[in-house]
Parts: sequence; structure tokens; C-alpha cells
Amino acid sequence: MLEIIRIHNELMGTYGDRGNADILKFRASIAGIRSSVTDISYSQVIPRTADIYLLGGAEDAAQVLSHAALAKSKALNSAVAKGAVVLAVCAGFQIIGNSFVANDERYSGLGLLDVQTSAGKKRLVGDIAIESEFFDANLTGFENHSGITTLGKSVMPLGKVIVGNGNGAGDVDGAVFGNVFGTYLHGPVLARNPEFADLLLERAAGEPIKVVRDELADRYAKWRRAAIK
Ligand code: GLN
Repeated sequence: MLEIIRIHNELMGTYGDRGNADILKFRASIAGIRSSVTDISYSQVIPRTADIYLLGGAEDAAQVLSHAALAKSKALNSAVAKGAVVLAVCAGFQIIGNSFVANDERYSGLGLLDVQTSAGKKRLVGDIAIESEFFDANLTGFENHSGITTLGKSVMPLGKVIVGNGNGAGDVDGAVFGNVFGTYLHGPVLARNPEFADLLLERAAGEPIKVVRDELADRYAKWRRAAIK
């Protein structure tokens, strides 16, 4: 049984990233893997033994609250030390880095990714496409943030920006270290890019999973890539 935890959706649900959990559950089911999705709210204890943890995007005030709870509990750090998979989007991505700025204040992040986020002067909003060495086809999504994220030496980017801004520094989006993935792609990103869901499931399962393709999904994938230029 694959346990998927959706962290603080009541705070970090602004951009609909909650859908990532639903896609993971669906892709797991068609690959023949049983899974469960559990919402853990701001006031609850985060279990340390789940397989996949999901964080979404948020406005600054909610991001600060979520970060305070995560920093206090250390549960995510302990789960990652045991090999758990993490997908963190936008504000979530910033929180799991080394530091970030929200509402004009700098906070120490969880340190799960060697990245640092500073406040940008403008909001970066719009369609985004990235080319990633993890996937055969480009990933697409929608971004909406003002944070600018720079990568440290121990992480690799999720991909190279083809359209849009991504991290806002160095023509790349996101960061990856082991089983921890950060990105600025909303969409939700796993709904737009089911192959990304399959990669996360595979990492959590620790072995190749049955990848299910169908003509409709392939046509949709082709269309969404063609639509972003
Ligand atoms: N508040 C952060 C920023 O603007 C994150 C925004 C988001 O999660 N979409 O950079």
C-alpha cells in the first residue's frame, strides 16, 4: 500500500495543486498499485513513514504559517532521510529549500533542497514549458510567483525553460536531489504531465512500474505541448 500525504492543503491549496494527489492515486490504480491519500492539516502531526509527500503553492501569509508548522515538526526531514519521495510546488518548493523570502522577511527553509529564494520585483505569471532529462517530452504548466530561486551545487534543475520563467534565474525550473523534486509548475503539474506522476510512483515503489499509455492521453500530451510556444 503506497501512502500519499497531502500537506496543509487548507493553507497551500490556492493554486489547485491538491490535484497532484488525485493523479498519483489514479496512475497508481491503473498500474495495479494500491494507494491511499491522506490530508494532513496545519494543526495535525505529519506521519513520518509515508511514501510520497506533496506540497502546493500559496500566497506569502499562508506559506509562512505552513513553514512554521513544518519547521517545528521536522517530520518531512525525517521521512526524506528514510527515502520518501517529495513533490513540492512553488511556495512548497521555496519552503523546502535553504531559505526564502515572504512578506519581506527571510526564513530558513527545511534544507531538503540546496536552493535559495529571494523576492523578485515582478510577478512571473503565465504558461511554462520545460525540457527535462527525466522525460522524453517537454513538461508544461502554469506559473504564478514573484520568488526567484537560485540553485546550489548539490541539486540539479528539473529542466531547462523553453517558454516562461521557471526559477527566474539561469533559464531553468525546479530542483532535484535524490527523491525530492521542486518545481514552479502548477496545472496541477501531474495532471498536465502524467509521466511525472509515473516517475514519482516508480521512485516510491523502488522498481519500474507498469506504465499505461492510451491514445487519448498521448493525443492530449501532444496537444498541450503544441499549445505552449
Ligand atoms: N508566495 C510565493 C511567490 O510569490 C509563492 C507563490 C506560489 O506558490 N504560487 O513567490
